[in-house]
Amino acid sequence: MSEKLNPFKIAQAQLDEAAKVLGIEGKAEHMILREPLREFHVLIPVKMDDGSYKVFKGFRVQHNDARGPTKGGIRWHPEETIDTVRALATWMTWKTAIVDLPYGGGKGGIICNPKEMSDGEKERLARGYVRAIAQIISPEKDIPAPDVYTTPQIMAWMMDEYSKIVQYNAPGIITGKPLEIGGSLGRDDATARGGMYTLREAAKTLGVDLSKATVAIQGYGNAGYFAHKLVEELFGSKVIAVSDSKGGILNTNGLKFEETYKFKMENRTVVGFPGTDKITNEELLELDVDVLIPAALENVITDKNADKIKGKIIVELANGPTTPEADKILHENGKFVIPDFLANAGGVTVSYFEWVQNINGYYWSLEEVHEKLDRKMTKAFYDTYEEYNKRKVHPRLAAYLVSVQKVIEAMKLRGWV
Ligand code: NAD
Repeated sequence: MSEKLNPFKIAQAQLDEAAKVLGIEGKAEHMILREPLREFHVLIPVKMDDGSYKVFKGFRVQHNDARGPTKGGIRWHPEETIDTVRALATWMTWKTAIVDLPYGGGKGGIICNPKEMSDGEKERLARGYVRAIAQIISPEKDIPAPDVYTTPQIMAWMMDEYSKIVQYNAPGIITGKPLEIGGSLGRDDATARGGMYTLREAAKTLGVDLSKATVAIQGYGNAGYFAHKLVEELFGSKVIAVSDSKGGILNTNGLKFEETYKFKMENRTVVGFPGTDKITNEELLELDVDVLIPAALENVITDKNADKIKGKIIVELANGPTTPEADKILHENGKFVIPDFLANAGGVTVSYFEWVQNINGYYWSLEEVHEKLDRKMTKAFYDTYEEYNKRKVHPRLAAYLVSVQKVIEAMKLRGWV
């Protein structure tokens, strides 16, 4: 990985930019936020189905807990690195702060390829990881959740393993669980839905009519396909292109969610969907659309292609899709980016609702979840928009200013700085 695209260096550079504006460069509050407070590296031996043992490497990073216990997902990826986990833990600190959750930022990861593992091997890996990190997590210390390639089933195994260790039922240890064992209604589409609430407000302020808007979505996993469903359902927008790891598809007449999703489920890719042209993931990003939704990976909008991006509003459902150089180019070109830790904060917000419901043993209706999520996302959008107007900075920096000030205030009140 080149230093320039190292996500942790990017996260630090973004914070440094905010520190400059806030006049705290080099001060204790800046230095403490540049690094995780603590991180745990573990080895997890797993007995594979063929009887052999494989040793997996895992991480759990706790970036900052001044505002409350750390919170963040667990990623299972063959190319996982500690710096990716550090960056994502840092972004969780800003994400939980922007939507005003009583949490700090954390993240976990395991270097593995779940696509090549049986269910039994995945279960043993999930349980082994929880045993390895049990001493640093608890419903009051650090609450994991799903992320790339981890599922509600994996959360269920992890919750069960933790409950066995502490010898009581502890649903509040992890979120993103199946409904039957303490999951929340509305968690499945929460990330995309939260992003759509911010898109609705951005469109209002920018004068974009979403009922006539065209949309392109990169990535067709949880974040991407729910974004497709919801732009159609909530606004009546027309999605003309979507993609996954195999490539993208384009139909300027529009792709209906139900049919596209059915095809993806049956064929494990969107590529080959009848009536579409095949395009590359790079081409998808450069399409002439009103709304562009990166919902797959980091570093897809860089100084190489930022000038070619035509979308008016960019809703970053993925974490870290835009590099700092690209941010500046997009801003100069009049593009409005709803930055990742604001746009995709719906997931952690409903995760927080799940934790609150677990602790209270009292569960909410779907309408209550949607209404509470809408309120949180709309307020976070306008907090950011106000800072954007006041300071005349790009939207990501505006969002940083909102979050960083909240975390610094908490550290000051605790007497850390
Ligand atoms: P997922 O595993 O469900 O889906 C990922 C999708 O990306 C898949 O469709 C995959 O085919 C596609 N993809 C992989 N490589 C690609 C490539 N090179 N080009 C284009 N597409 C590619 O994951 P997800 O939960 O949808 O997460 C996607 C992004 O959203 C990640 O950055 C994640 O951190 C972020 N995110 C997700 C949530 C959530 O609740 N799911 C919350 C916050 C942020």
